[in-house]
Amino acid sequence: TPRDIVLDVAKSIDARNSELGAYLSWDVEAALAEADSADISRPLGGIPVAIKDNINVTGQPCTCGSRILAENYTSPYDAGAIRSLRAGGAIPFGRLNMDEFAMGSSTENSALGVTRNPQDTSRVPGGSSGGSASAVAGNIAIAALGSDTGGSIRQPAALCGCVGIKPTYGRVSRFGLVAFASSLDQIGPVTKTVQDSALLLNHLCGYDAHDSTSLNVDVPDFTATLGQDIKGLRIGLPKEYYIDGIHPGVSASVQAAIRQLESLGAIIKEINLPHTELGVATYYVLAPAEASANLARFDGVRYGHRSSSATDLLSQYTLSRAEGFGPEVKRRILLGTYMLSSGYYDAYYIRAQKARTLIRNDFTEAFKQVDVILSPTSPTPAHKLGELKDNPLAAYLEDVFTIPVNLAGLPGISLPCGTVDEDGKALPVGLQIVGKALDESTVLRVAHAYE
Ligand code: GLN
Repeated sequence: TPRDIVLDVAKSIDARNSELGAYLSWDVEAALAEADSADISRPLGGIPVAIKDNINVTGQPCTCGSRILAENYTSPYDAGAIRSLRAGGAIPFGRLNMDEFAMGSSTENSALGVTRNPQDTSRVPGGSSGGSASAVAGNIAIAALGSDTGGSIRQPAALCGCVGIKPTYGRVSRFGLVAFASSLDQIGPVTKTVQDSALLLNHLCGYDAHDSTSLNVDVPDFTATLGQDIKGLRIGLPKEYYIDGIHPGVSASVQAAIRQLESLGAIIKEINLPHTELGVATYYVLAPAEASANLARFDGVRYGHRSSSATDLLSQYTLSRAEGFGPEVKRRILLGTYMLSSGYYDAYYIRAQKARTLIRNDFTEAFKQVDVILSPTSPTPAHKLGELKDNPLAAYLEDVFTIPVNLAGLPGISLPCGTVDEDGKALPVGLQIVGKALDESTVLRVAHAYE
């Protein structure tokens, strides 16, 4: 029964969360109350789904991994994605740790605690949806929601050894997802299998009038085409992605995956994405620019932390923000504000928008020749906790293969493809499959054929 499932998940959290730090909070009583009225005739009937702590669920905390929201914020409403999940019968259960405001690739930027990789607890789970991936791969969640602005669903899924998909921009409502970079953010599932991701996507996708960028298009049954073969399907390998600097074990795993897909009848083609090298730089102009505007709402007035040392309105703003935000968030706000200021706007922001168009056009050209594009999700397996903490630039480069997909608004999945041995531990490697806009079906079908 749904009650048994909730109790089982709660038991597994009790057993392993102190080691993994994936969940920040979970309310068993509330979930049991929902379980008792769950309609199990629905496709997700009575299934608890754990939620990244930047997606609003009525009556639950929504800290965004930040001190500024940790003290006194309770969500007054359900996000669009949560409404959709509930309509499918699911029960949102538990809040998952994340890099503060989704800024990071290791979950080490959370102000609320450390999350560990279940495959080797001395290593990071990736991020920013590190709690989502750690919980699912660590068997303390059946499935989870994450959000992905530059790789934050796919990269932690890769590093922890589970499946994560970022849908086409506009597929899943962003209403009630605390905004980081609104033109890039997407919610998506983190699951153990491709089949589970397809099933969750069936319910997450759909038009929402509360999100002005929501797409009013048909949602196919993503599970229906999963079993179809991939004979004759064209898979592109971007020349610019298969470069030095990728961990040799990651390369070997991805090469083996390519051979396997070829043996299933896929046609492998080399393609070009000539503006790849602009991706990370473009992202680190646009994402902070949007973040600096989005995070202006945390002013100590309407919600969140308010400094007790303030003496006037201005010091209330500045002290509340200074005390509430962590160093990475401050770095991004400063960068973004600088790049949007008069005199720099044309030099940075406008140029980055132009570069974004070039990157998007690269994909449009490539998809005239192939059906999907294949690459590693991340150039390296999970690093040790603390290893990159003082080197944000090195951390930014880890997203080199995932960021262009957000800039182009395309769907991309990461699924496990082998492991790399380090210190006697088998560290997961992720395979990224990117599709045409709105073609999640093909992405999922290729992933399922490989899995
Ligand atoms: N790691 C990237 C960043 O720090 C992407 C994060 C994300 O997708 N939310 O911005």
